Amino acid sequence: MKFETIAVHAAEADPATGAVAPPIHLATTFTRDTDLALVGETQYAREGGPTHSLLESALARLEGGAASLVFASGMSAGVSILQSLESGNRIILPDDAYYGFRTAARDFLAKWGISTSIVDMADLGSLARALEQPARVVCLETPSNPLLKVVDLAGAIALAKKAGALTLVDNTFATPALQRPLDLGADITLQSSTKYLGGHSDVMGGVLTFARRDALFERIEHARHILGAVASPFSSWLVLRGVRTLALRMERHSANALAVARALCQHPKVAAVHYPGLPSHPGHAVAARQMSAFGGMMSFRTRGGREAAISAVSRARLFVRATSLGCVESLIEHRATSEGAGSTAPPELVRLSIGLEHPEDLIADLDQALR
Ligand SMILES: *Cc1c(COP(=O)(O)O)cnc(C)c1O
Repeated sequence: MKFETIAVHAAEADPATGAVAPPIHLATTFTRDTDLALVGETQYAREGGPTHSLLESALARLEGGAASLVFASGMSAGVSILQSLESGNRIILPDDAYYGFRTAARDFLAKWGISTSIVDMADLGSLARALEQPARVVCLETPSNPLLKVVDLAGAIALAKKAGALTLVDNTFATPALQRPLDLGADITLQSSTKYLGGHSDVMGGVLTFARRDALFERIEHARHILGAVASPFSSWLVLRGVRTLALRMERHSANALAVARALCQHPKVAAVHYPGLPSHPGHAVAARQMSAFGGMMSFRTRGGREAAISAVSRARLFVRATSLGCVESLIEHRATSEGAGSTAPPELVRLSIGLEHPEDLIADLDQALR
């Protein structure tokens, strides 16, 4: 079955009641029968539950994986992998990894006895050199945040496999609608479902999808159960609702973003546009090979440095001034301000999450904001 069809039918009619939309099971505890066998699959909601299971089986099918686990946030999903490592393990992170993971590496990993190496993943030679020392996990993120760098997934995954390292791909920007890392050999994908999967700026969640239901899956499921980072039933239900329109939304996000990127390229106040859909983007050919469209995220640099960037953000009227991404409304932010102290975002960089408005309205808003 094709992706769009799987997404729309992510939640089938409830067999118990015939309800076309799925129920939300808020119960925290589940009964046993007179033989003390569990009636359902779980006994206590920290293990998961019926609403989680519905979402997990839908997400596993959408990513082409064997199983998924849903978490309270994208960060808790990523950190659960780190919690499954041994003290003394080493991981390799991209130089522009999501800000939260860079901060986690700085503030927590050393304490847990896990060492980190940081690599420019757009250069596979650097990754090959980093893999000369033993590594347990290679984390990949493409397109990346906030510079939209593109990593050759098949190439990076092959290098990691040869060195015996697991690959984790943060697929939040592309979503499985546009890019399927498990088909390219990755071991695990991560999504912040707070972004495109939820899609409406009203739910926080994360998900890991595994190529195999193996010992690693069991360890991470155990970590979620015992350490408690499981998603809530209501957030799982909201993500399930979002997923049903994901394919359609990603198509429109991508078409709108391409139109905005082309207009920004022509703008006299714009020094550079970072969008993998532009032929001038250094990762365009790789992105065209591994993505079915280029997504809704982009950033651009203003002429006139930090002040010009801040002035453009503050003058936006239709774009909402807020961080985060992947929602129906378009968002604009000065990335260095959002990341705060220690940010590596260039001072003249403005990041856009392109929503589902008409592209001409978005282009007109940016034009007036930049003038
Ligand atoms: C937002 C985000 C995360 C973290 O997810 P939360 O749901 O905010 O915890 C991880 N990776 C990427 C690429 C993100 O955009």
